[in-house]
Amino acid sequence: MNIERLKRFFLELASIPSPSRREGAVALYLKEKFSALGARCYFDNSFSQTGSEVGNLVVDLWPEDQPLLFLAGHMDTVQPADNPKIIFENGIFKSDGRTVLGADDKSALAIFLELAHYLREENLRWPVQFICTTCEEIGLLGAKNLDYSLVRAPYGYALDSEDPHDLIHRAPEAIRFEIKVLGRAAHAGLNPEKGINAIRVASEAITRLKLGRIDEETTANIGLIRGGQATNIVPEEVALQGEIRSHSHQKIQALWEETLRTFREVVSSWRKAGDTRPEVLEKCQEDYPLMAVPEGHPVVQIALQAGKKIGHELRLTKTGGGSDANIFNSRGFPCVILGTGMRKVHSTEEYLPLEDFWKAFRFTLEILRQAAG
Ligand SMILES: [Zn+2]
Repeated sequence: MNIERLKRFFLELASIPSPSRREGAVALYLKEKFSALGARCYFDNSFSQTGSEVGNLVVDLWPEDQPLLFLAGHMDTVQPADNPKIIFENGIFKSDGRTVLGADDKSALAIFLELAHYLREENLRWPVQFICTTCEEIGLLGAKNLDYSLVRAPYGYALDSEDPHDLIHRAPEAIRFEIKVLGRAAHAGLNPEKGINAIRVASEAITRLKLGRIDEETTANIGLIRGGQATNIVPEEVALQGEIRSHSHQKIQALWEETLRTFREVVSSWRKAGDTRPEVLEKCQEDYPLMAVPEGHPVVQIALQAGKKIGHELRLTKTGGGSDANIFNSRGFPCVILGTGMRKVHSTEEYLPLEDFWKAFRFTLEILRQAAG
C-alpha cells in the first residue's frame, strides 16, 4: 500500500469535474486504471433512465473468481463543481473555495483504485467487486437503475460517509408528497364571496399538521409552497411539497394518512361558495426504502472483526439520510456504510484530512482480508 499513490489518485479524480449526469470523464478515467490492472469493467445501460453520460460502472478485480463482497461509491458530486482547483496543505485536501472538493464521493473511488493496485501487486486474490454509480446526489438514480445481474457479490460496503469510525447499519425510509388544494377564483375586490381562497384553506390545514421532529426516529417537513396569480384575485390553487422520514415504515404510513386526513377534514368543513367546496388532490412517492441491517449479519460482523484486528475503533450507528446503500439493501444486497474521512460535504468548505483518509483505506483493506479468511 502506498499513501503517495492514494493521494495522487484522489487529486486526479477530484480534478475531473463530475456533477450529476456528467460522470463520463471520471468513469473513463476509472475504467482505464482498472483495465490496466487486468480487472474487468462493465457499464450498464442505466444512462437511458438516469440521463447521465454513462451507465454505472461495475468492476471485477479478479474476473475468474466468485466475489466475496462489493465496495460501492458514487461518481457524481453536487454543484458547484466546474473547474475545480484542489489544494493539499498541512495534511488536508480542500478546494480553492469556489467549488466543492468532491471527496464525496471521490475519496471512495481513490480508495478503490489503491486497493486494486495493492491487491494486484501483491497477487492477493481477494475477490472484490467495485460498484461506481452515477446520479446518487439527484435521487439515487444510478443505484435505482443499476443492472443488478452484474452484482455477483452477496453483500458489501458503501464508502459514503464522513467519520471513518462510524459503521452505519440503519438509515431511514423517506417519502415525498405533493398536496394541491383547489379553491375557486373570484375578483378579490368586486365579489370575494364568490371565491374560495385556496391559500387560506391550505394554511388552515398546515397549522394543524405535525411537522419538524415528530419523535426520535421520525421527521416531517413542508419545504415548498406555490400558488396564486395576483393580489386582486382570490387564489384558485395552491400546491405544497414535503417529505416524511422515519426508521419505521409504519410511522411513515401513519403520518402520511394523518396528513391527508387533516386536509380532507379542513376541506369538507369549509364554507361553500355557491355549490363549490374546496378540493384536495394528493401525490405521494417513495424517495428511498428503509435500510436496517441486523447486527448479527456477516457484513457487520466482518467489519467489527477487522476493526478489532487493527485497533480501529468503531461505532455501530444510524444516519438521518438516504443513500445508495438504501437501494442496495432493498434489492437484496445487504450493505452497510463506511466513512472515508471527508468533512463538511455538500459545501465549498468540504475537506479531507489525509490521516483519516488513510485510516479509512487501511480499515477497508482489513475488511477484505477478514472476508478472504
Ligand atoms: Zn455521497
